[in-house]
Amino acid sequence: MKPKIATFMTAHTVRRIVKKRDYLDKLKGVFSKLSIEKVYIENYRSGLQVTTEELKEVRKLLENEYEVSGGTCIGTWGEKWGRCADYGFKVICLTDSKNLSLLAKVMKQAASVFDEILIDDFWANWCYCDECIGKFNEQYGFNLKVKSFREALLRKDPQIMSCWADYSTKLLIDVSKRYVVGPAKEVNKNVKVILKVAEWRENFHVRGLFFNALKNVFDGFYVGTESREGTQRYGSFYIIEYVRAFVGNKLKGAWFDTYNGYELRIPIGINAYIEQGWHSALGLVDEITLFNARALLEEEKREHFERMSREIPLMKKLRGGIRGESIGLIRPAVQPSSQGATFERYLEDALGMIGVPLKVVPLEHIKNEDYILITEEDIGYIDIFELIERGCNLVVTSMAAELIAKGALGESGLELLGLSKVMPLRYEAKDVHAFVYKGNVIMLEHRRPSGMVVGPILNLDRGRVLAYASDGKESYPVIYISEYKGTKVYVLCVTKYMPYLKTLYPEIIRQVVRDIALEYLGVGLVRYRDALFNVSVFPYTDGTVSLMNMNDYGVTFDLVLDKGKARIKFSKVPKDTVLGKAKIEHISEDSEKISMHIRMPPNSIDAVKFA
Ligand SMILES: [Zn+2]
Repeated sequence: MKPKIATFMTAHTVRRIVKKRDYLDKLKGVFSKLSIEKVYIENYRSGLQVTTEELKEVRKLLENEYEVSGGTCIGTWGEKWGRCADYGFKVICLTDSKNLSLLAKVMKQAASVFDEILIDDFWANWCYCDECIGKFNEQYGFNLKVKSFREALLRKDPQIMSCWADYSTKLLIDVSKRYVVGPAKEVNKNVKVILKVAEWRENFHVRGLFFNALKNVFDGFYVGTESREGTQRYGSFYIIEYVRAFVGNKLKGAWFDTYNGYELRIPIGINAYIEQGWHSALGLVDEITLFNARALLEEEKREHFERMSREIPLMKKLRGGIRGESIGLIRPAVQPSSQGATFERYLEDALGMIGVPLKVVPLEHIKNEDYILITEEDIGYIDIFELIERGCNLVVTSMAAELIAKGALGESGLELLGLSKVMPLRYEAKDVHAFVYKGNVIMLEHRRPSGMVVGPILNLDRGRVLAYASDGKESYPVIYISEYKGTKVYVLCVTKYMPYLKTLYPEIIRQVVRDIALEYLGVGLVRYRDALFNVSVFPYTDGTVSLMNMNDYGVTFDLVLDKGKARIKFSKVPKDTVLGKAKIEHISEDSEKISMHIRMPPNSIDAVKFA
């Protein structure tokens, strides 16, 4: 039953096991509690390369009870290596010849013991040393010193970033072929080399991790589903969808650790840790790796793993029963070279946290009548008018609308959004203290400031306004729908200040956004009395709808299915949930719609099945 649960033993743990055999017995005890079936055994990390004998010995100690594979952390630097870059952690320079020959040595050793090698996510181009910038200048015709290059990155100079992304990709691909995958296959022609990419998706391209190129070099991919404290946890699910959109079934697994992201020694909160696991499972990967084996015995993480050991059988049950693909409001698969958006960085994660499901889809698979979420990142990367030609409907975010209003798509862009040719952009941002929905003024001021910010404020020529914001003197359109060449164009001027969208705007604003996704998907969440955030919905084509409440209090909402429109299989009205945690309190059904009133306990995950 999927997913398979694995763990990863760092080189330091491998050495410790060789020295202290009873340490392995303790590890095995916790492996069994966590249903661990597979162990990755690492040969190199941060300067420590274990001997081939040590590697073989640990393999032998584990292989009778577990599936075993190799692991490695090339990219990390050690004292015997050449130049490095220091980010608080040290990573190797990819143009240093000493580093290149050591890389080949590490990879050959791992491939001599294992038929599969999983590379941890330090494998990227991180270096801005004099030599690297010199090579970049030479290839692209710039004449930059390291300091001026770094300043250009800071102001996101599009030309320099785009060239640097190209440079990094070519460098990483060349080094990966000649010093990583090549040497490994030289000693073991059957070896599969799997690359894990990290949780920072906005930096992939600029650090050389460009999937269109990588997928021709590596045999498979793994993805980091770490959420980190203070981030929007739906991102742990979204990143799986994101990577899969580029690499397809080369995506093998998800991996997350126990760190909170601010300080490595402090663990992430227990609920967030468990949710990382659930998001990984709901991303439908075949394998989930708990990083790392040594952490499983750390006292300050005891409760994390105790909880995890109880959740894993439930993850297997729920995940094992899903036979379809996830669906959601569509994000086109693009890998911008510019470190992505500024205001709308990780917007997808925040939308996921207010119950708007998202699906990343390669551009060529986007169809007639699909609803496409167009964000800041897409302007300049995607041919939006071609999507209109295909008959797609658009959901345009604040920053995308602002760029279009400023002329990013010329006069046709103004036409697309129904904007006035005269001063299409009134304000980039506006302080307001109320919203107006269907004529009702909605304010929130109980124990908090009533002031809020929205933006941009656009000057509309046409369109139907769904919600206004007001400063008491004037009302400004903030969500509206316009038609363009027979397709719908929704414009959401409420996404620029994401923390407001997620929790501080009145609930009706989140519901208007959810309703757009519901109109497309035919399945979704409708609020019931209270504000609905930190709640995610995961619909799958087989009729499964998974639900996650990430609040430490119970929530109630309606799960609505539109019989005529649902893009999921529908053959029955479920009376019970899959795990029995959420309660279906009431079901109402008419010829068009099913509405299920569902109560979810604090920090809980469950699902219902409509087929
Ligand atoms: Zn360098």
